[in-house]
Amino acid sequence: LPIKISGQVGGVVQIFVRKREVEDVEELERKIKKISQYIKEAEPVIESKRLMRVLKESALKDPLTGLYNRRFLEENYGHIIAGILRRETVLGILMCDIDYFKKVNDTYGHDVGDEILKGVAKVLKENVRKADVVARFGGEEFIILLVDIRKDEAIKVAEKLCQIVEKTKFETKAGILRKTISIGVAEFPVDSERIWQVIKFADVALYKAKQEGRDRAVRFRPEMWTEESY
Ligand code: GH3
Ligand code: MG
Ligand code: MG
Repeated sequence: LPIKISGQVGGVVQIFVRKREVEDVEELERKIKKISQYIKEAEPVIESKRLMRVLKESALKDPLTGLYNRRFLEENYGHIIAGILRRETVLGILMCDIDYFKKVNDTYGHDVGDEILKGVAKVLKENVRKADVVARFGGEEFIILLVDIRKDEAIKVAEKLCQIVEKTKFETKAGILRKTISIGVAEFPVDSERIWQVIKFADVALYKAKQEGRDRAVRFRPEMWTEESY
């Protein structure tokens, strides 16, 4: 029996009957009729549930890169952190920003800029673990949550990512381009027990990475946090 969703077959219910139960064919036909009636009534419910899921997913994802967006993070920090505390592990926060990205737009146009954004997003996603979260945080800024790492491990991952991006040849309609990124690194609950504070610290470290010449990862240190700079 087909399950019709949005005018198409979205699923199939297959019914098996034991031989000895087939003797009363009429009874069987009655049962099947009942089942198909039930399926018909369930169809709009299944359809709306599916639409809800698609809608929810699109609200939590960035359409350009396919990465999660800020809203996804806001909705999921709570349980990610709860898991980290329960397992007594560390959450690495990497704040990544493409270096001199504006130059790409200015020189080759916005479309090529978009291609670079997609390319960098893909490289980041492909080079962290499946359980890690890569999200687009702003225009050309990405945040990566490294789940269940050991203390002081995040900077190593960040350095590796910088090197990989640096070596990547991005194929764009303006030809092959190369870009670098800078990354600020902080760790939860190592640097602070408040996640937003840790994110802020990663941002401060990112600022340092830019100041120190870009194309590098910088680990947050408490002396970087001065009131007058923020
Ligand atoms: P820095 O090395 O200091 O990070 O320099 P930058 O040029 O990368 O930084 P800046 O913040 O000055 O420029 C970011 C640019 O990113 C400006 C903005 O127009 C561009 N941008 C933001 N979102 C998008 C997007 O979705 N597509 C494209 N093509 N450009 C974007
Ligand atoms: Mg930026
Ligand atoms: Mg930038």
